[in-house]
Amino acid sequence: MECPCCESELAYEDWYYTGNYSAYEKGYEDSGFKKLGDIYKCSNEECDYFEEYFHTRNNDDSQLFEGYPC
Ligand SMILES: [Zn+2]
Repeated sequence: MECPCCESELAYEDWYYTGNYSAYEKGYEDSGFKKLGDIYKCSNEECDYFEEYFHTRNNDDSQLFEGYPC
């Protein structure tokens, strides 16, 4: 995955979700847990005047969005 600003390789940073992850790990069916997508960070220091985080939404065909998801 490449940075849409500077085209350097994005580093995998984290993933994000909705619901109760610890309840999901314990096997509760009503945890509401669902993985929403992945978070990437641009490693290029010259890129820091842009938003340096990017995220994808799994339901959105892994398209990159600028910024950290709220
Ligand atoms: Zn970049």
